[in-house]
Amino acid sequence: MKLLFASSEIFPLAKTGGLADVAGALPIALHRAGLDLRLLMPAYRGVARQAEARKIANLGDPFGLGDTILLEGRLPDNHLPLWLIDNPRLFDRDGGPYQDSQGVDWPDNDMRFGLLGWAAARLSQANSPVAWKPDILHANDWQTGLAPAYLKAWGDSRPGLVFTIHNMAYQGLFPPALVPRLGLPWSFYAMEGFEYWSQLSYLKAGLVYADKLTTVSPTYAREIQTPAYGFGMQGVLADRAADLGGILNGADYAIWDPARDRHLHGGYGIGDVRPGKAANKAALQRELGLPQIPDAPLLVVISRLSDQKGMDLLPAVMPAVIAQGAQLAVLGSGQASQEQAFLALAEACPDHVAMHVGYAEDLAHRLQAGGDILLMPSRYEPCGLTQIYAMRYGTLPVVHMTGGLADTVVDATYDAILQGTATGFRFDQPTASAFQWAIERAIGLYRHPDQWARLQANAMRQDFGWDHSAAEYLALYRSLRSDEPPGGVPFRPQTETLPP
Ligand code: ADP
Repeated sequence: MKLLFASSEIFPLAKTGGLADVAGALPIALHRAGLDLRLLMPAYRGVARQAEARKIANLGDPFGLGDTILLEGRLPDNHLPLWLIDNPRLFDRDGGPYQDSQGVDWPDNDMRFGLLGWAAARLSQANSPVAWKPDILHANDWQTGLAPAYLKAWGDSRPGLVFTIHNMAYQGLFPPALVPRLGLPWSFYAMEGFEYWSQLSYLKAGLVYADKLTTVSPTYAREIQTPAYGFGMQGVLADRAADLGGILNGADYAIWDPARDRHLHGGYGIGDVRPGKAANKAALQRELGLPQIPDAPLLVVISRLSDQKGMDLLPAVMPAVIAQGAQLAVLGSGQASQEQAFLALAEACPDHVAMHVGYAEDLAHRLQAGGDILLMPSRYEPCGLTQIYAMRYGTLPVVHMTGGLADTVVDATYDAILQGTATGFRFDQPTASAFQWAIERAIGLYRHPDQWARLQANAMRQDFGWDHSAAEYLALYRSLRSDEPPGGVPFRPQTETLPP
């Protein structure tokens, strides 16, 4: 079976969050399972060189923005075949995939990701200019949402279409005048098409026109069918419930494993977690300018700073937490008000709080290894990878019970501790007081080193490797191919509703 996997970011070539980690790891597991695949993403500045890519086709000039060239290269390290959409006018610039270096959205994101969706569709058509054609097109998030719409509009034979929602909040909304500019039919600009409150939604295009929809955890698949989490699309999703399922994301343990992590000050595993983490903690405290107190509980945050992540709850909680002798290290960027709040906290309490504004892959690894407790108070969380990585590093997560956080972290209740299943701390309501109580529970257990060590061992033993999830995707792809034998893990639609 041949798979084209389209994403706007793929680790290690371009990353702003979990989507890149998924796009850089799931295809490896699918390839291991026997799929013949191509990854597809834009040729952002510098990417073609890193991937050692060369031209294989001219896709033409659908939008009057210059010819778009298809380059073929390899993903660094694992050598998966990679296709790049090269259009210098749209992609060859400094800055991030979606925003400039000041954090402002690129004004031409409509055309940039219109082109990505168009190219994914073009390469999936029977008359594609490239000989290799997919049996399945797997598109991810709004940036690739137009691909299913194009294929439906063009009408000829096409591959099975899978669309994965990594975050419902980002909907790719643009003015309707784009419809003819993108070469799409006006008939699709309707309530049952990609129209959304008088705008064109790239996300909705994916939701409406793909054959199967997935999201990245079973709980989130249920949540997004409700008004609280559906961001207005809950009705569309409820209509498609029979084709919607949740497949939990995995972790790439080749990259996120404290035993072989090249960013650390010495590796460790379950057998030597105490000395291993102590050495990494001391080095981290030194690196961040925090006092090197071995038994001060070190809370860590590695996060985009947006409303979603709930980090605005943290400053209010910190005085009480600091009073208990804890330290806090934050790595994050995003909303200026949140960056400022943490910088102010670090200035006011330099012996307890360190703030690193920005994006730093290597520091993220060192925080996972040197921290004791990871904080993730997300208001909603489609899956969340940071808490999954934290567990492997013996850093126990404190999480709001939502989405993938609810599906991956087992709360340290009395029973769960006794049964050896507890892996972290959960709280029900996204309020400062509930969050504070959960942190205090974590600190309380941290003060009992033997119990803490048992929880760490439970957490480190969890296996969120990609192979199980890849088997679920494989079964889903097969279900779209009449010529493929069924097999693997059956796809379970998320038709059951949430309890009130
Ligand atoms: P999301 O995709 O919503 O941002 P996830 O938890 O799924 O959240 O994935 C976040 C990924 O981005 C993880 O790999 C995490 O280590 C990384 N990350 C987030 N913020 C930063 C940062 N400021 N610096 C380095 N890595 C970060």
